Amino acid sequence: MPFNDLGRAVLAQREALDERIREVVESGWFVLGPQGRAFADELADYLGAAFVVPVASGTDALELSLRATMPRDRRSVLTAANAGGYTTVAARTAGYAVRYADVDPITHCLSRQTVESAWEPDIGAVVITHLYGRAADLEDIGSWAHENGAVVVEDCAQALGALRANRRVGTIGDVGAMSFYPTKNLGALGDGGAVCTNRADVADGVTRLRQYGWAEKYHVEQTGGSNSRLDELQAAVLRARLPLLDGWNARRREIIETYRASAPAHVRVLDASGPGHVGHLAVVECPRRADLQAHLSRWRIRTDVHYPVPDHRQPAYAPEYREVALPVTERLAAEVLSLPLFPELTDDEVNRVAGALASFAGD
Ligand SMILES: *Cc1c(COP(=O)(O)O)cnc(C)c1O
Repeated sequence: MPFNDLGRAVLAQREALDERIREVVESGWFVLGPQGRAFADELADYLGAAFVVPVASGTDALELSLRATMPRDRRSVLTAANAGGYTTVAARTAGYAVRYADVDPITHCLSRQTVESAWEPDIGAVVITHLYGRAADLEDIGSWAHENGAVVVEDCAQALGALRANRRVGTIGDVGAMSFYPTKNLGALGDGGAVCTNRADVADGVTRLRQYGWAEKYHVEQTGGSNSRLDELQAAVLRARLPLLDGWNARRREIIETYRASAPAHVRVLDASGPGHVGHLAVVECPRRADLQAHLSRWRIRTDVHYPVPDHRQPAYAPEYREVALPVTERLAAEVLSLPLFPELTDDEVNRVAGALASFAGD
C-alpha cells in the first residue's frame, strides 16, 4: 500500500482540472493575472484573513514573512527543530540566526514554557509550526513574544484549515505561511505558497519582496526582494481544489481516528480529532519504531518518518549547535513513524493498516 498516491485525487477531478488548465492556456496570461488574484481573494475569504499574497512556495512564504516582520534591531529567529527544517532554510536565507526551543511531549509543538526557557534578547520572531496538522497552542507563546518585542509567524504548511477558537490558523499571529506543495492538504500540481496576514504593512512588504522589491514596475523600494510568484496555472488548479479542502480534511481525521481506535497501548497514535486538527500526517510514537516499521512492511504497508534528523543535528548546521540539547525533540525523532494517509484511501486499505497495527505485539 502506498504511503501517498497523488494520482487518485487527480483522477477524481480530471475533467475540472483539464477545464481550468485549458482556460489558462487559452488566456495567454501566465504570471500575476486574474487566476492568482481570484485565488488570493477566495483563500482570504476561506481563512477570514484581510490579505493573502500568493508566492512560489511555502519556504518562500516563510522567508518573505520573516523579512517583512523582523524588528529592525533583532537578528534571530526562534523555532522548533522537529519540523523538517524549512524555517531554518528560510531564516538562514534571509540572513538571520536560528535558535531552537524544545517541544511539548504531547503536542510535539512549541509551548510557552519551552519558548520562555530558550529566550534570548536578540530573538525578533518566533515561528510556530502547526505540526502534522495540529493547531498549536499559540496564544500564550504569542503574548510572551509580543511582550518581548518579537513577532509571531505561523507555519501553516501542514495545517491549512485548522481552527483555533473559531479562527483559522495563519490569522492569529502577525503572519501565516502556507504551502501548496503537491502532498499538502491543499496541493497544486507543482510548487506554490502564500502569505496571509491581517497587517496591511506586512501584506505590502511581502507584495514587494516577492517581485524584486518593486513598489511598481521597475522601481525598487525595498532590499531583500526576489522572484517568488505563484503562476496562473497553479492558481487555477488551487481554485478548483479549495472548495474540496474541508471534506478532504474531515476524511483525513476520520482515517487517523480509525488507526487510533485499533492501535495497541504501546503504539501512541497522535490525536487528530476535532476541527483543531486537519490530519496532515498520521503519526505514531513508538519506542520500538524499527520493529513496527518492519512489521508494517511485512503487511506491505509503506511508512515514512517526519522527521528523522532534528535541525540542530543536521550535518550542515550541527557544528554551530554543539552546546544545544533538546531532549524531547531528540527522543521523538527516534520514535515517530508516519502511516499511510491521504483522503482517497479506501475503507479496505484503512482497515488493513488498522489490522496491522492491532497485530503488532507489545514485547
Ligand atoms: C512543506 C513544508 C514547508 C515548505 O513548503 P514548500 O512549499 O515545500 O517550500 C514548510 N513548513 C512545513 C512544516 C512543511 O511541511
